[in-house]
Amino acid sequence: MQSFKQFLNSISTRLVADISCEGLSCLAYPAAHPPLLSRRRAEMIISRVRLVAAMFALLTPLWIIVDLVVFALPLSLMLATGRVIASVAFGALALSYGSSHRMTDAYRALGIMFAIPTLFFIFSHMLLTHFQNEGAAAVIAAGYAFLPFVMVAGLSVFPLTALEGILFATPVLMAEALVALMQLNYMNWSTHLGAFWLLLLITATATLAGMSQLAFMAALVRQASHDPLTGCFSRASGEELLNLQFNIAVRNGSSLAVVFVDLDKFKTINDGYGHEAGDRALMAAVDAIQNNLRSGDALVRWGGEEFLVVLPDTNCAAAVVMLERLRAKGLGLRPDGNPLTASYGIAERSVDCAKDSQHLVEIADQRMYQAKEGGRDRWEGCTDTV
Ligand code: GH3
Ligand code: MG
Ligand code: MG
Repeated sequence: MQSFKQFLNSISTRLVADISCEGLSCLAYPAAHPPLLSRRRAEMIISRVRLVAAMFALLTPLWIIVDLVVFALPLSLMLATGRVIASVAFGALALSYGSSHRMTDAYRALGIMFAIPTLFFIFSHMLLTHFQNEGAAAVIAAGYAFLPFVMVAGLSVFPLTALEGILFATPVLMAEALVALMQLNYMNWSTHLGAFWLLLLITATATLAGMSQLAFMAALVRQASHDPLTGCFSRASGEELLNLQFNIAVRNGSSLAVVFVDLDKFKTINDGYGHEAGDRALMAAVDAIQNNLRSGDALVRWGGEEFLVVLPDTNCAAAVVMLERLRAKGLGLRPDGNPLTASYGIAERSVDCAKDSQHLVEIADQRMYQAKEGGRDRWEGCTDTV
């Protein structure tokens, strides 16, 4: 049993290592995605939906000419009406859907983009089953059956999880099943079964392609949002993350504390022992801080040897508890063997009446300077009102 578990672990480790995603759950469903990844993904999905919609707005009406040539006039005119409506809907989606970084907006855009051809597919088949088509007309009519294959193959254009791929393909598969039921009296059930199986295979392949896009995207977002030396969030992504947490805290009326950290007399390490020794001390200090944080907290490299700790759902007293625990364990040693210390400034959103996330950081920064002026290796903080 134990060796079977190890075998499964080694397989999943290899898979995950290849695709550089933080665990298979990241590729399976979106709940585990970090907020920065969700924001980038929403932006990308919406911009691709607009691109694909613009392409189909132009391509859909082109086939009207072929329909007019091969089908009887009433049928081709009705199909042309359907195509024009679909083209206008695609055009409206491409031109008027606003960019957003919310996944709910991205899902809505994807839903509309898949709904347009799905409805056109059902509409065209209801029409085609009412007309007897022969020769070239029968061949072109059969071509309409390929639309669901194009739709599910289109899933591969987007960075999606397995669950999302399945959910967006389901209405297309249901439309295919509906059309098959409408045609059962004159088409063999085994033909439909073969087509349905092929559709499932393409859905699975396109979903895997979407998942691999997601894996690359997750790796790129991670690389771009982290400082290469320390592995902390970089300043730009840290500001974005803090802003996000600030808005969530305002919406929920919850507390949000930040701690500004500036290492004491750090320049003397570089001056006395060289830049590499400074880098090592910096990385050791970061390790010590990281090990002291909860999984929802974030450590941002704000500048050279200055850091910002973001503590969601944390009031002043809880931030002080975290800080005292860190000070007790220490930030590692300077090259001369003395303990490396820092000066800290704590601020909390509601107690300090911060207008926005920038204001909150300014308050914490000022307190950090007070701690420096007060003699270093200490903190200045806020006091909870209750
Ligand atoms: P204070 O207690 O007043 O903060 O003194 P300090 O020496 O820490 O302050 P100061 O701002 O004068 O110096 C910060 C130093 O941090 C200067 C800079 O060379 C060093 N530093 C910034 N980034 C890095 C880095 O990535 N690696 C190394 N080795 N040093 C860095
Ligand atoms: Mg400094
Ligand atoms: Mg310093």
